[in-house]
Amino acid sequence: MLITVVVLVMLVVPAVVLVVGAGHLPTRTASSPARQSSAPSVPVTRDEARAVLESNGLYSQHLSPTTCHVDDTDYASASTSQDEERMASFVQCLLDAWTGPVAAAGFSLPRPQVTVYPRAASGPCGDLRGGVSYCRADKAIYYSGTYLQARPQALVVESALAHEFAHLVQEQVQILWSHGMVAGGEDEAGGRDLHRRKELQADCMAGAVLNSVSQSLGLTTADRERVVEFFAEVADATAYEGNHGTAVNRAYWAGAGLATTSAGTCNTFAAPADRVS
Ligand SMILES: [Zn+2]
Repeated sequence: MLITVVVLVMLVVPAVVLVVGAGHLPTRTASSPARQSSAPSVPVTRDEARAVLESNGLYSQHLSPTTCHVDDTDYASASTSQDEERMASFVQCLLDAWTGPVAAAGFSLPRPQVTVYPRAASGPCGDLRGGVSYCRADKAIYYSGTYLQARPQALVVESALAHEFAHLVQEQVQILWSHGMVAGGEDEAGGRDLHRRKELQADCMAGAVLNSVSQSLGLTTADRERVVEFFAEVADATAYEGNHGTAVNRAYWAGAGLATTSAGTCNTFAAPADRVS
């Protein structure tokens, strides 16, 4: 099993997005996912792994309305430490929303560290050169300061954090592990299909968790539309090369998440091919 850094948005070196995002650029060898004693066992065959993807226990869980307190730091003018503080408080909201559903599926959910880094940085997942990413090696989220300055709107930041946090959720419920196992038996096209399903699921989970905090944050209809637009803007053909989904499908899954309280709505691994293109 290989460690990958899962990237939502990369501005500087798109070729690396494809390679890194597709999971073919390992930097560390991963151990199998941590689990509670009562948790489902770790899949050891591809059939078992496929079953984890398509019939995960998370899919029968629901996200409840969650109270979320974030201060009104202006990302455009705040210091890096102030930016990190606001991000950390939003990540606490994500943790509050997801802890129950993940626990009900038999797993625990750690609190990820969020780091804002300058132009580039090196970490457990190798070199980071932009965008927003989730690193499996340390279960942490890395936010490029350059990207933050380019798009400092709170809804953009929170949508990006919700997407990366969804990768942590996928990690904890064995979806990333299983995805890697199944992808190992696929050709390039099959690997891309699987990768898009994983990314579009993270879009949907991001929408669902934003829905769960929407009342607390006072999200308007226009705010929800802005979230959907954001995911459509960072799609294949503009930001990626065939492994994150079309603008139409990124918008579709983010919108589906925003309209649901059911984690099962986000089962992209059972979706028809045209919904994950
Ligand atoms: Zn992603």
